[in-house]
Amino acid sequence: MISAIKAFFGGRGRVVTRFAPSPTGFLHAGNYRTAVFSYLFSKQNRGKFVLRIEDTDAARSKKEYEDNILESLEWLGLPYDEMHRQSERGELYREHLQRLLDEGKAFISKEENKEGDGQGTGKRGEVIRFKNPNKRVRFRDMIRGEIEFDTAELGDFVIAKSVTEPIFHFAVVLDDYLMGITHVIRGEDHISNTPRQILIQEALGAPTPTYAHLPLVLAHDRSKLSKRHGAQSMTYYRDAGYLPDALLNYMALLGWNPGTEQEIFDLDGLVKAFDLSKAQKGGAIFNEEKLRWINKEHLKKAPKADFIKEARRRILSMSRAADLRWDVSDDMLTRLMPVLIERINTYGDISRLVESQDLDYYFMEPAYDALSLKWKDEADLGPAKKHLEEVGEMLRGIAPSDWQEDKIKAAVWPYADQNGRGNVLWPFRFALSGKDRSPNPFTLSAILGKETTLKRIEKAIASIKL
Ligand code: GLU
Repeated sequence: MISAIKAFFGGRGRVVTRFAPSPTGFLHAGNYRTAVFSYLFSKQNRGKFVLRIEDTDAARSKKEYEDNILESLEWLGLPYDEMHRQSERGELYREHLQRLLDEGKAFISKEENKEGDGQGTGKRGEVIRFKNPNKRVRFRDMIRGEIEFDTAELGDFVIAKSVTEPIFHFAVVLDDYLMGITHVIRGEDHISNTPRQILIQEALGAPTPTYAHLPLVLAHDRSKLSKRHGAQSMTYYRDAGYLPDALLNYMALLGWNPGTEQEIFDLDGLVKAFDLSKAQKGGAIFNEEKLRWINKEHLKKAPKADFIKEARRRILSMSRAADLRWDVSDDMLTRLMPVLIERINTYGDISRLVESQDLDYYFMEPAYDALSLKWKDEADLGPAKKHLEEVGEMLRGIAPSDWQEDKIKAAVWPYADQNGRGNVLWPFRFALSGKDRSPNPFTLSAILGKETTLKRIEKAIASIKL
């Protein structure tokens, strides 16, 4: 058993994984999924999770993107145990590049600087090339199995522009080595980089980590989801009112499934169930509808206080923008919460409901033309007036402590049944909402409270001039 564990960890003890984004764009679903898989794998092995900002490409790396990556990870709740920036590790790269040069495993090559004008007419410059032993490299990938490459075709590839300017492959390999990374979990677009990275490892005397190359995250049309193609940033999802737990849950299912019917997981559940070796090989399509569904399931389980706080923030900001002074009380939101949850998938949908005027009657008196209180079968408003008076009487008889949807329904239903449901319930509902479409009058009465309900019914009665 012990030896099996040792073999699994390559004899190196504790599992260490890393997430190594380049700050050349916002953190989006494609790279966040890599973070989730690396994080889950390290946690379920009681290991370490390292964040490494790969900013050696100074021209393309931007502080703004690094900030976005850090902000996103914080919001998403993926804590890392260590953080490094490649731009701060120049001395280490220099030392080890020099070592490879001294040992004859790399050499300085004087060549035309093609960067000049792309025509090869630029100045002569120097690069550091790796002395390729030209051999077959074989590695076992946790997802894809044995992979073999003939590295001869790579030639003596460039590993640095100078001892202080390593290119991507060298920095990745040295950092993985010095940071004790045991498992490299990353997108399969890096498979073709692996052979040359293994050659560099061997030259440095570094152990080869275990690799797991994840299937790509694809857009609807099966093209690669990327910052250039359809991918939204994680902070977009935050602002659109998604829950971090829902994104975590959804991302874990992008390329992995538990082999059971279960689809809703919290972090602890994922740490227990996740199995990297069962990740799928084919591309995983990013499906926004599925994410919305998962988000709804998490919203249903969200702490009530969080829900109320976010709902209030959104309703208030929308109503203020429309110059309305709504009183959005905790009590009202508590009563409204089940109705809202039924109608939304994200908090952003609450803003949309306010925008489409589907919530205004909870916060202000509805304005409508009295004629709308008339049920379609009736010739005039006489019956509506009579039914509203009767319903008002019945409602007044309900004790405040019994003001609940089922009891309100029980009080009014027999009368509605006898006198025509539409004939009674339409004016009742319209008096409360002033809308052709709204929840039923029992739900509305329960949410609005006894006082407001009666006030609106009286107002409706008074508006009917026969
Ligand atoms: N910095 C690379 C990227 O953002 C990842 C490198 C790696 O995971 O080895 O694609």
